[in-house]
Amino acid sequence: MPPSPDQIIRPEILALSAYHVPPASGMVKLDAMENPYSLPQELRDEIARLAADAPVNRYPDASAAPLKARLREALAIPAGMDIMLGNGSDEIIQIIALAAAKPGAVLLSVEPAFVMFRMIATFAGMGYAGVPLKADFSLDLDAMLAAITQHQPAVIFIAYPNNPTGNLFDATAVSRIIEAAPGIVIIDEAYHAFADASFMNRLTQYPNLLLMRTLSKLGLAGLRLGLLIGRSEWLIQLEKLRLPYNVGVVTQLIAEKVLQYPDVLLQQAAAIKAERTVLSKCLQVLDGVDIFPTDANFILLRVDAASQVFQGLKQRGVLIKNLDGSHPLLKNCLRVTVGTPDENVQFLTALQATLKKPIY
Ligand code: PMP
Repeated sequence: MPPSPDQIIRPEILALSAYHVPPASGMVKLDAMENPYSLPQELRDEIARLAADAPVNRYPDASAAPLKARLREALAIPAGMDIMLGNGSDEIIQIIALAAAKPGAVLLSVEPAFVMFRMIATFAGMGYAGVPLKADFSLDLDAMLAAITQHQPAVIFIAYPNNPTGNLFDATAVSRIIEAAPGIVIIDEAYHAFADASFMNRLTQYPNLLLMRTLSKLGLAGLRLGLLIGRSEWLIQLEKLRLPYNVGVVTQLIAEKVLQYPDVLLQQAAAIKAERTVLSKCLQVLDGVDIFPTDANFILLRVDAASQVFQGLKQRGVLIKNLDGSHPLLKNCLRVTVGTPDENVQFLTALQATLKKPIY
């Protein structure tokens, strides 16, 4: 008898549902926090030339030193801090979890948070503890400190701003958590470009702090490039788990080129921030829609019947994220990524039509 998956695969993996990426072809795609703008034509021409000449017959540069130097400058990484690159920051979360997965080790985060924190803890065989946020999605510091005492987590992940709620947590409370943590704390700044706050300057202050960034929300999601910034004593160990060629030749070349023009990405982020204000104002005045404050490139909203509204939008060609049912605090919540002015109008029009005439 050939083995069946349930004889071979770990029970906690059998129990997981795969991370669902819905088909989006032909839709107004506002579900995944992508930057809706493309790069300027001249830069695209330069990229075309680079791609044409890229040595794709060779493995990529495993150290990616030129790209790291460019990142160091563009992101103003403090002297003395090292960089580890990932195939997206997802992969960095996985490397950290694999490295820390001693028997009984716990990864702690807040709930609701980026779902991959929990999923990857499970992939790696780590325990997971999720501390509920308060109803307004602020950090429950007392509950966090109690959970730290109880679980002694090896790893704490905090997204700053948080996904899917969009808010920045109180920086003093986050610092208290870093100070109380018996292990490492990773501040995940995936949405940094849309917020006016960062823990980058605290890296030198806290020996157990690591900071994660990604180029995905900045306009380069398709390249898959994330980075971890921190002290070499940690990064030397984590590097051992990084597969040597995890960042491809073309990704390295294009990222390095685009980072020569950081203003291009920052101007796009500024345009998205301006549109976020416009979209928030339009949503605020809609009957039956409540929105939550955001420092990211998306807005969390609550409606009366989120799943029906989600389906109504989908039938009208607009794809957003339905969070209803994913966590008790997210009852009837939807998350919409800020798109171009035109996409946002299409979303608002479809939303108004759906609220007026739901497709049940
Ligand atoms: N962290 C957070 C908080 C996110 O929301 C995401 C993407 N949704 C990621 C990390 C992963 O991003 P990437 O793998 O594209 O770098």
